[in-house]
Amino acid sequence: MIKTNGIHHITSISGHPQENMDFYGKLLGLRFVKKTVNFDDPNTYHFYFGDDGANPGTIITFFPFTNGRKGRIGDGQVGTTTYIIPEGSYDFWKERLIDNNIDLTQETRFAERYLQFSDTHGLRIELVERSVTNKSNWEVYGISKDQAIVGFGGAVLLSHFPQETKELLTDIFGFQVVKEEGDYVRLSTPGELGNIIDIKLSSSGKGITSVGTVHHIAMRTKDDIEQINYQELLKKRGYTVTEVRDRNYFKSIYFREKGGILFEIATDGPGFTIDEDLESLGSELKLPKQYEHLRSRLEESLIPVKLEV
Ligand code: ZN
Repeated sequence: MIKTNGIHHITSISGHPQENMDFYGKLLGLRFVKKTVNFDDPNTYHFYFGDDGANPGTIITFFPFTNGRKGRIGDGQVGTTTYIIPEGSYDFWKERLIDNNIDLTQETRFAERYLQFSDTHGLRIELVERSVTNKSNWEVYGISKDQAIVGFGGAVLLSHFPQETKELLTDIFGFQVVKEEGDYVRLSTPGELGNIIDIKLSSSGKGITSVGTVHHIAMRTKDDIEQINYQELLKKRGYTVTEVRDRNYFKSIYFREKGGILFEIATDGPGFTIDEDLESLGSELKLPKQYEHLRSRLEESLIPVKLEV
């Protein structure tokens, strides 16, 4: 196995792009770090939100579809995306979400308290307080540095075959089993962002990937060489894995694991400052070279969006 440093990004399908932007950019106060298009379908946006530095382990991305059908969260998907909030900010977030008419539930797993809710389009999110070394300096919309979402805590996976999914995480990615408790098994890998994965052991029924569900989860690899090693290891273990695809901000390989969840392995570099300064991330529509000739048409056809200050 090759030890990963945890989740690189999580990509989901949303409804209207402006509603998506208002929820993650404004209510949750994440930094909008990249406005681009789906590299496999340039007529659709691809939005990226993360921490102030757009670091791996903090990046949630969306393909927004204005008239997409609602999906169903279930087996073969990431069920819940977990974010870390700084210690002492739980009540701030609870009040902020209630004030914005968000329905909340609270759950305790592995002795941690989770604040759970859905985004505007049905995606399940949860916040958990954890002590971390680095905080996000993105102070916007009444959220201070001591309250700002730090990055991913991890994710809850819903699998058709939880045992097989667990083996993928231990045997390929080097996760260690922390504990089994109730309906969940917890695994972790070193680090403090995106490094704790809970697999639900009972079935949640079959998932349907569409609006309001996670499309795929990407794990971190440090460079191109390690990525090729992952690709070879996966092939050796009988997985069908794609060729390396250049996503501009990272390179990617994809495979579907035996429990039905679509995984990606993405390189940490070159990162989101490859085509924009750190200060101006997310301010302009960025297109990969192969679509630059479509710019004027895309700027007219894509729905205009903005984050109101
Ligand atoms: Zn991805």
